[in-house]
Amino acid sequence: MKTIIKGRINIKITKKILDFSHSVNDMQYTTLSHLLEENSPVHMNLKKPEVIHNSQIPGGDGYNSFIITAENHSGTHIDAPGHFIDGGKTISQYRPDELVFNKPIILDVIKGPNETINLQDVREVNLNDVDCLFFRTGFEVHRDKHPEKYLTENPGISPQTVSWIRENYSGIRCLGIDTVSMSSYQNPEPGKQAHVIAFKENEKLGEPLLLIEDMKLGNIKTEELKWVMVVPWQIKGIDSAPCTVIARLNLNQD
Ligand SMILES: [Zn+2]
Repeated sequence: MKTIIKGRINIKITKKILDFSHSVNDMQYTTLSHLLEENSPVHMNLKKPEVIHNSQIPGGDGYNSFIITAENHSGTHIDAPGHFIDGGKTISQYRPDELVFNKPIILDVIKGPNETINLQDVREVNLNDVDCLFFRTGFEVHRDKHPEKYLTENPGISPQTVSWIRENYSGIRCLGIDTVSMSSYQNPEPGKQAHVIAFKENEKLGEPLLLIEDMKLGNIKTEELKWVMVVPWQIKGIDSAPCTVIARLNLNQD
């Protein structure tokens, strides 16, 4: 009995020492999502967001207020099963702890226009200890300067890749990408299949995946990424929602 108590004390002390080994400045929060604005590039079939300055202090209203009109797949957003599955789970049905990921990684899979993330890109990667997998294609560099290219030539992901991930790594609950959609604009059919495969219910494959699109991954080093929390707009009944993706970084890797 005594030994067990001693063991417990030891564990606590070790934890404390670990916490003190990083100064506060090494830890930082950042966002992996873009600001939503009227100029946000949105999928070609969607209406552009509108942000109307409704009440205005300079106009004599005495206060500011805005009216925001946006499609729910605008800007950085998270797709839930209800997007492609009739009666599927909607994003507001997820509990906050289902939207926190303690083992996220960014996988660099550099892709040019209209290319596809394939099995070869993931097969050799050890994804055993991963709960959230962000694909960095590098296509994000076109978002500001060449929005038309960003929207009409985006790389996508093959249905086989999504299927393989679900079959082999049921611990992965979320995929993300730095392109406007997981679905290539020029090649929509496989993109649609990839979504359906991600979202379909199958007991053997664990929970359906969540998909985050139009992410801001920048130059963040995957080894600095400690955890990620996704905060979708809290709106009842909609399939998916624009979201803020908060990441905690540890900038001092020993
Ligand atoms: Zn979407």
